[in-house]
Amino acid sequence: MSGFSRRGQMSERKQFRAIKGTRDILPPDSALWNWFEHTAREVFESYNFGEIRLPAFEQAELFYRSIGGETDVVSKEMYYFQDKAIPELEVLREQIRYATILPSVPQTVDHFVRELRKFRQLLDAGFAAGEVPKHDLNVGTSQNLESEANQLQELQSVESSARNNDMISFVASQIKRHVGILHLGEPLALRPEATASVCRAYIEHNMQAFPGNQKLYYIGPMFRRERPQKGRYRQFYQIGAEVLGQSDAPAIDAEVLEMLLVFFNRVGLTRTTLYVNSIGDKNCRPQYVELLRNELRRVKDRLKEDSQRRIETNPLRVLDSKIPEEQPIIETLPRISDYLCDECRAHFAKLKEELNLRRIDYKENWRLVRGLDYYTRTTFEVTAEGLGSQNAVCGGGRYDGLVELLGGAPTKGIGFAIGTDRSILSIEESGNAPKLGGLAVYIAWMGQASYPTAVSIARKLRSAGLSVELPPEEMKFKKSLGLADKLGARYALIIGEDEVASRTFTLKRLADGDQKKLAEGELLEYLESERRR
Ligand code: AMP
Repeated sequence: MSGFSRRGQMSERKQFRAIKGTRDILPPDSALWNWFEHTAREVFESYNFGEIRLPAFEQAELFYRSIGGETDVVSKEMYYFQDKAIPELEVLREQIRYATILPSVPQTVDHFVRELRKFRQLLDAGFAAGEVPKHDLNVGTSQNLESEANQLQELQSVESSARNNDMISFVASQIKRHVGILHLGEPLALRPEATASVCRAYIEHNMQAFPGNQKLYYIGPMFRRERPQKGRYRQFYQIGAEVLGQSDAPAIDAEVLEMLLVFFNRVGLTRTTLYVNSIGDKNCRPQYVELLRNELRRVKDRLKEDSQRRIETNPLRVLDSKIPEEQPIIETLPRISDYLCDECRAHFAKLKEELNLRRIDYKENWRLVRGLDYYTRTTFEVTAEGLGSQNAVCGGGRYDGLVELLGGAPTKGIGFAIGTDRSILSIEESGNAPKLGGLAVYIAWMGQASYPTAVSIARKLRSAGLSVELPPEEMKFKKSLGLADKLGARYALIIGEDEVASRTFTLKRLADGDQKKLAEGELLEYLESERRR
C-alpha cells in the first residue's frame, strides 16, 4: 500500500526527503561548520563586534521596502506567506463567501446580515489586538462592508420588488467579494538576508541611543527560492557583520574589510580576490542612472530580454549581466567613477588609502553594483577559486539611508554577508580544511564485572574534555577493537577482569598498535600529554 494508511497518516513506505535546495549537514562535516562559525565569532569579537540573534521571519514589507520590490531576491525568490488568521474569523469569512441568499426569503438575508455584523465585530477586535493587519486595503474594505450591511438592511425594509431583489443580490455579491480580499493574517516572509532585520532591530531597540557605533554580527540560515545548483541553495547560511551609527568614515569601511580578510585568512580561505567599487549616493547616482538608461536605450536591440527590461526598472543591474554577448556592449557604457560627486569621490579615494595603509589587496570593479537596492557609495565582493560560476563568497557595502527609509533616525551603515556554504566548499576544495576533534578513546570492556570500572573511567576522561566512546553492550574483544578502528578512535582502552583486579589498564594506540600498561592515575596524565604533542 502506498500513499495514506487508514488512519490518514503517511504509510511507512513513503520516503521523506529534504526539500529541493535544502540539505542536512552531517558529522563530521558539521564539525567543520562549527569551527568556521566559531572562528568568525573569535575574529569578530576581537574587533569588538557583538552577536545579534534575529528571527528567521519578518513582516514581508520590511524586505519590500529595504531590498526593493523590483529586485530578483524579493520579486522572484522570497518565500512569502500569510500568517494564520484568527480561526473564528476565517470560518465566518468562508460562511459569508459561500452563503445562499434568496432575496425573496427574508430570513436568508437577515441571517446573512447578522453573520456579517458578527464578522465585522471580530474584525475590529482583530485590528485592536494587532492580530489583523490594519493596512489601507483592510481598513477601507472593512468600511465598505459596514455601509454594504446597512444598504442590505435598508433594501430589505422596503416592499419587495423584482428590482429590489436584484439590488439585494448585487450588494450581497459585492460583500462576498469584499470579505474575500481581506488579509486576515499578516503577510510574512522567510528572511532572504539579514541586513534589513538588523536595521529593524536597531530602530526597535532605539540603539542609536547606545554609546558609540553599533557593531553587530549574526550567523544563521537565509532563504531564497533560487534554482538549486552547486553553491546555490534555497536554505543557505550566512555570517554577516554590520556597523551602524553616525559616522560614515572610510576607516570604518576599511576596518570591516580588514576584519573580513583576517577571518578568511584564519580559516584558510586564501585564494580569494576582493573587488571594490563606489556606486555614489543620492546626490550623484540618479544622474548617472539616467545617463546609463539613455545609453542603454540606444543599444537596447542588442541586449537580451532581462537586460532590456532592466533598462526601465533598474539599469544598474544591467552591469551585473554575465551573458557573454552583452559583455562587449557593457564595456562601452559610461562608468560611475567618472560621475561621482565630490563627496563620494573623496570618500572612495580615502577608502583606498585606508586599504593601502592596512596592506589589503583589492581590485577596482566599476561594474560591481550588487543585487540589492539599498547600497550607497562603497560596494564590495570577495570571490574564491574552485567554485565554478557561483564563486562569490562574500558581498557587502554601505547603506547610509536604509535605517531612515525604514522609519528610523538618519543613520550610516555598512556591512557584509559571507556565504558559509560556498566558503566551506572552497576551503575543502583547496585542501585547507583542518582535521578536527574526532574520537580520542574507545573503551573495549569485557566481562560484566569490568563494566562499572569502564563507566567510571569513561566519565572521568570525558570530564577532562576527551571524546570517549563506551559500548553500551558487551562485545567480543576482536569485534570491539574492529569497531574502534572503524570509528577512527586514536586509542583503545582495554578493561577486562584482570585489569580491574590489578587497577592497571592497557592503552593501545590504534595507528601503530603501540601498547602501554598504565595505572588509573597515570592514564589521564598520559592522554593529556599526548594531546598536547
Ligand atoms: P548577498 O546577500 O546576495 O549579497 O550574498 C552574500 C553571499 O551569500 C554570497 O556571496 C554567497 O556566498 C552567499 N549566497 C547568496 N545566495 C546564496 C544561495 N542561494 N546559496 C548559497 N549561498 C548564497
